[in-house]
Amino acid sequence: MAKRDYYEVLGVEKTASEDELKKAYRKLARQYHPDVNPGNAEAEEKFKEINEAYEILSDADKRAQYDRFGHDGPAGFGGGAGGFGGFGGDFGGMGDIFDMFFGGGFGGGQQQKGPRRGADLRYDLTIDFEEAVFGAEKTIHLPKWESCKTCGGSGAKAGTSPTTCSRCNGTGQVITMQKTPFGQVQTAKVCPECNGKGKVVKDPCPDCGGKGQKRINKTLEVKVPAGVDTGSRLRMSNEGEPGELGGPNGDLYIYINVRPHEVFLRDEDDIYMEQEINIAQAALGDDIQVPTLEGKVTLTIPAGVQSGTKFRMKGKGVKNIKGYGKGDQYVTIKVVTPKNLTAEQRNLLEQLRATLSVPATAETGFEGKKKEERNEENKKGFFSKMKDAVGDMKDAVEDWLDEE
Ligand SMILES: [Zn+2]
Ligand SMILES: [Zn+2]
Repeated sequence: MAKRDYYEVLGVEKTASEDELKKAYRKLARQYHPDVNPGNAEAEEKFKEINEAYEILSDADKRAQYDRFGHDGPAGFGGGAGGFGGFGGDFGGMGDIFDMFFGGGFGGGQQQKGPRRGADLRYDLTIDFEEAVFGAEKTIHLPKWESCKTCGGSGAKAGTSPTTCSRCNGTGQVITMQKTPFGQVQTAKVCPECNGKGKVVKDPCPDCGGKGQKRINKTLEVKVPAGVDTGSRLRMSNEGEPGELGGPNGDLYIYINVRPHEVFLRDEDDIYMEQEINIAQAALGDDIQVPTLEGKVTLTIPAGVQSGTKFRMKGKGVKNIKGYGKGDQYVTIKVVTPKNLTAEQRNLLEQLRATLSVPATAETGFEGKKKEERNEENKKGFFSKMKDAVGDMKDAVEDWLDEE
């Protein structure tokens, strides 16, 4: 399967900084999140592709390897995205090729017979908006291999122990001669008899069938710290696949995905929302109740406020995950024109209309716009408009209120 370049997937330059990568990833992850695109298989594929690209590029080591070797790097980047799967452990057939050209120096750990570190695991954890903001404890069930307790991981039946492999005499490697365009090449391959371990089990442990490991469904409690966001990665050391022959376990990486909120849009530590008010409130001003992450808060609307005016509520955003204070909440006012008036309301508004002057631009303002332009505007919902505007918004705020 042809894979797209990871940088291309995220739409960034090869020289992109960690921060640029994270920004690009978050933007795309929100756009293609399965919760936002229910039943859309294409979006789901995209989402997986984005996650995989970010998984590699956000890790300095993996990114360096990818830059050097591309998708077919010696670390075998194949696994990973979507659900979960081990990564880093699958060397596929690349070992042989690297042996030929690099004299056996490459190819990872397959032909070493000493202790081997277990593979790292990835688990994608989707959490609610509030859980990301305030932190949460989540229980996950992780299918993984575990070292067999009956045989202590040796794979041999109680009272027996593994014996030296006769095919490779315990070296874990067999030497073969291969004809290539460059002549005869001597290649060391992993011993097929003992899988490179140098030892074979004659009397297998009945509990694990001689594998030394068992497939289990491990239950883990994950502490999600307050302030995580889509793209955050938590590491649980030692919770990856077990090591072999006394090697250490791999680590488990929890990738966080945050479900979108119905009211709030989050950018880093700041929160954005839209608040509707009626024309009387807009003209006369009012104290209104605005939802925040920590309940309703009074926001004083000055008389004569226009639709689109933004207010900042300081310190009502998300607690920074690294402890650098809190973000702010930005409230955009939307003035709603009343419909289905009662006779009394109609009468009052008619009296009002008679006293107000008609704005000079009323005839050209909206109608003057091209039809396509208007359709385009209508298509864009509040959130997507906000996303476009989020970058400039902090500078664009005209009026703002401090928290009392
Ligand atoms: Zn066993
Ligand atoms: Zn062998």
